[in-house]
Amino acid sequence: MQHFDVLVIGGGNAGLSVASRIRSQKPQLKVGIIEPSDKHYYQPAWTLVGGGDFNIADTIKAERDFIPDGAVWIKDEALQIDPEQQTVTTGKSGLLKYDWLVAAPGIQLDWHKVDGLTETLGLNGVTSNYSPDYAPYTWKLLQGMRSGKAIFTSPGTPIKCGGAPQKIMYLAGDYFRRQGLKDNVKIEFCTAGGVIFGIKKYADTLMKAVRRYGIDLHFKHELIRVDGPARKAWFRVMDADGNASMVEKEFDMLHVVPPQSAPDFIKQSPLAVQDNPLGWIEVDKHTLRHVRFPRVFALGDATNTPNAKTGAAVRKQAPVLAANLLSAMEGKALTAQYDGYGSCPLITGYGKLVLAEFNYTNEPTETFPFDQSKERWSMYQLKKRVLPWLYWNRILQGRM
Ligand SMILES: Cc1cc2nc3c(=O)[nH]c(=O)nc-3n(C[C@H](O)[C@H](O)[C@H](O)COP(=O)(O)OP(=O)(O)OC[C@H]3O[C@@H](n4cnc5c(N)ncnc54)[C@H](O)[C@@H]3O)c2cc1C
Repeated sequence: MQHFDVLVIGGGNAGLSVASRIRSQKPQLKVGIIEPSDKHYYQPAWTLVGGGDFNIADTIKAERDFIPDGAVWIKDEALQIDPEQQTVTTGKSGLLKYDWLVAAPGIQLDWHKVDGLTETLGLNGVTSNYSPDYAPYTWKLLQGMRSGKAIFTSPGTPIKCGGAPQKIMYLAGDYFRRQGLKDNVKIEFCTAGGVIFGIKKYADTLMKAVRRYGIDLHFKHELIRVDGPARKAWFRVMDADGNASMVEKEFDMLHVVPPQSAPDFIKQSPLAVQDNPLGWIEVDKHTLRHVRFPRVFALGDATNTPNAKTGAAVRKQAPVLAANLLSAMEGKALTAQYDGYGSCPLITGYGKLVLAEFNYTNEPTETFPFDQSKERWSMYQLKKRVLPWLYWNRILQGRM
């Protein structure tokens, strides 16, 4: 049985950032990374791919080029975790033993929870930027639309990048406006949520974009069924008294953000929050240590920490987790604290972006010395040019 000082599940944004930090701070530690995928994705750029302003090929690189020096890549899937025995069962590599576990398997996209969706995704005008397979189709659909109705949805579960369902909608609105099609193409936002954004300062700017593009907002609308060939979608609508009814809508284009949850093997493991069907990994929201299994830490989209699930959050979580894990190994107190920082680069049109930044208290915690709730060309360039470079060259290496 292979034995690791630190075993990391998931070689995505979070897993690689932490593994790199641990390897560089303590090169003598044997670090293993369980990751089944040959490819590594820069997911935040998929919004721009859907809007025709980024090449999908530039969002995909070889995983092997980002495995930290000296770490062991176990190119396999984690299937089961036994935190009592300190083992992880894998698909082909057998049982792996660990002294310390870092769980970073990301979020699961539950396409199957919308009836009829998997059969029609990528066809019949139904698309989603949440997959590299379909983000280019979003752009194809936008270019093909001359009239009709484009619906953009957002589900009732927590999702990665809560702003992404809207960002592509604003790009679409801007695209139609620039093509002189604003009056021909009707845009609807159907969200299971009850507000456009949880922080008023940023919500006010988003409402300006909503008005600019003539978007119809439909809150408490949850997509539950799609019939692609018939171009119809059904929404469960909750009224103010909590009564549910069903609404049928026709569409010419439907951009779907699927319901999301922790990966199934996490849900079925002792690491999951009890009494929550979404099965997030239950960690202390400041130290990122598991609340019941002290040799387990977790970060990224799969945890129950109540921050915005973003790469921006991972960037702040990774140094906290690495510091606390190394302290725990030496029997010291955990002093590093994650404050819930998350950021949402809200694209509101081509060359327009509102950089929302906030923490657990939902207080804006802005980086720049100007009002970030204003739409800015400079922040759009940050998203399109600077952040992808930082991701591939600094963040995954644990240097930022
Ligand atoms: C359309 C879109 C737009 C976004 N926009 C932004 C943005 O503008 N700003 C921002 O900060 N964030 C954005 N995000 C979110 C960001 O990409 C995620 O929050 C970030 O990738 C989370 O990192 P993670 O490591 O937790 O998950 P991931 O990066 O998804 O990595 C999880 C890894 O775990 C692996 N894995 C899964 N199951 C197993 C298993 N059983 N065994 C082993 N490995 C496994 C996966 O293969 C994957 O490599 C966006 C995401 C999307 C989809």
